[in-house]
Amino acid sequence: MRTSQMLIPTLREEPGEAETVSHRLLLRAGMIRKVAAGIYTYLPLGLRVIRKVEAIIREEMNRAGAQELLMPIASPAELWRETGRWDFYGKELLRFKDRHERDFCLGPTHEEVITDLIRREVRSYRQLPLNCYQIQTKFRDEIRPRFGLMRGREFIMKDAYSFDRDEAGAQVSYQKMYDAYQRIFTRCGLTFRAVEADTGLIGGTSSHEFMVLAETGEETIVYADEGAYAANVERAEVLPPAETAAESPRPLRKVPTPGVRTVEEVTAFLKIPPQQLVKTLLYQTPKELIAVLVRGDHEVNEIKLKKLLGVVEIELAAPDKVRAATGAPVGFAGPVGLRGIRIVADQSIKALRNVVVGANEADTHYVDADWERDFAVERFADLRNARAGDPSPVGQGQLRVARGIEVGHVFMLGAKYSQSMKATFLDPQGQETLAVMGCYGIGVGRTAASAIEQNHDAKGIIWPAPIAPFHIHLLPLSQSAAVTEATRSLYDTLTQTGIEVLWDDRDERAGVKFNDADLIGAPYQLIVGEKGLAQGLVELKQRKTGEAARLPPNQVLAHVQALLSNRPIS
Ligand code: ATP
Ligand code: MG
Repeated sequence: MRTSQMLIPTLREEPGEAETVSHRLLLRAGMIRKVAAGIYTYLPLGLRVIRKVEAIIREEMNRAGAQELLMPIASPAELWRETGRWDFYGKELLRFKDRHERDFCLGPTHEEVITDLIRREVRSYRQLPLNCYQIQTKFRDEIRPRFGLMRGREFIMKDAYSFDRDEAGAQVSYQKMYDAYQRIFTRCGLTFRAVEADTGLIGGTSSHEFMVLAETGEETIVYADEGAYAANVERAEVLPPAETAAESPRPLRKVPTPGVRTVEEVTAFLKIPPQQLVKTLLYQTPKELIAVLVRGDHEVNEIKLKKLLGVVEIELAAPDKVRAATGAPVGFAGPVGLRGIRIVADQSIKALRNVVVGANEADTHYVDADWERDFAVERFADLRNARAGDPSPVGQGQLRVARGIEVGHVFMLGAKYSQSMKATFLDPQGQETLAVMGCYGIGVGRTAASAIEQNHDAKGIIWPAPIAPFHIHLLPLSQSAAVTEATRSLYDTLTQTGIEVLWDDRDERAGVKFNDADLIGAPYQLIVGEKGLAQGLVELKQRKTGEAARLPPNQVLAHVQALLSNRPIS
């Protein structure tokens, strides 16, 4: 393709709206443009990247035995009412009415629609297992769309759904998808890690997220420095404390702590380590206000808390509720004398003696409080986030922490949807049996964006070759007849063998062309200049390393083919 014939509106200025590298560079390289919050147009260059990612996904899904189909974006409310998700999904589900006043939504995911299809079409165990996938636009009215393609409202997803005769079959289908995902993200040229993920209310261990490792990731993952354990911090289990403090309890005392409320302030004021402070957090659930105790240096894991309480929603209680319940402003809540409120505590509290807690009185704390003597904990449980240095929950090594971007998710659903929607088949004995399901998503745009988060420099994007919009950016440095002729000949030779070349045929200064090429990020730049040609040479430069080889034009093809197939250059 020639630059002059493509819409590639590169920007020299930093776009103000962009918060992350990938968002900024996708805008600057003329690959996307915002239409509304979280809603983008993919321009020709950006779309080429999207299509490359899709092609890799498609090949590997087909290889794994999945079949492609395409479901509609609009789906009728009745299906969502069957599973209860019409109410449960909340505001992320964009709803509308058609001209007959019937309720519809834009599909944020397609379990309902696929399960409806399969329950109608599959009668016998002989038709199973089945795995169907689509690559399609999803809509989720995200509360905070941001970071460009990373968290959009409208975005492209590959979603697959497997249907099996039994649990064992479903495990096989799950493993096939897990393996396919390993191949997909490897082929995309990404550094990633599969981690154990939270399974929500379904339980079990069969849920993995595929995380592209990047400092800018929204997710926190932990992994053991020995062995294979890796998990999303949302899920990572924390072992109970090894031993209880040897101290004997001292008498409870009330001390004035004027104006100090945060962990840092209180521990500095009382000259104690944060492990000696117990934070009391009040959470509002749909049912009640509940007090949660964690050590001063720990963080509450709200997912674990929700599971313990059996609720789907919790939030920190508003300051006025805290005041009403404790009689004190936020920062001074404590378990001693807290009436009418259940108290749950992280298991680490059990090992502590003589702790500092809020006194439910402004500017006051208790010191030397003791859980056995001074307050009533209803349950001790694992309620905190794992952190660096914790022992691995599966026995080997210590945990480390990294940031990741969730690009894919494989999930064992069991009979959740087949049960509510009555998706059954007849087993060999003629018994009606529920299909066992799995679901498997990949964010296509997010995968492309995460490749940029992982591969860029100050000048722009450095695409992994398999998903680059073009393999080669061809840069003639003048408009002279000799240069144009050599360029055209290289272009023809390369494109005839299927190599994708973007030919910058604009009458622009060399500097402008180099800047755009570095910004757009094709893995190789082929530079044709007057001086070089006079010596019979052109320059082939690697975007990533800046390494340049000077070659006679007739050797370029062999060189490029070797580079693109990772072969040594012969
Ligand atoms: P997140 O926790 O990031 O919101 P999710 O758990 O809601 O993700 P899934 O429902 O598992 O995501 O969707 C499958 C995949 O779709 C995700 O792994 C991610 O790559 C992609 N995805 C989800 N939400 C978005 C979004 N708002 N924008 C772009 N991609 C998304
Ligand atoms: Mg989400």
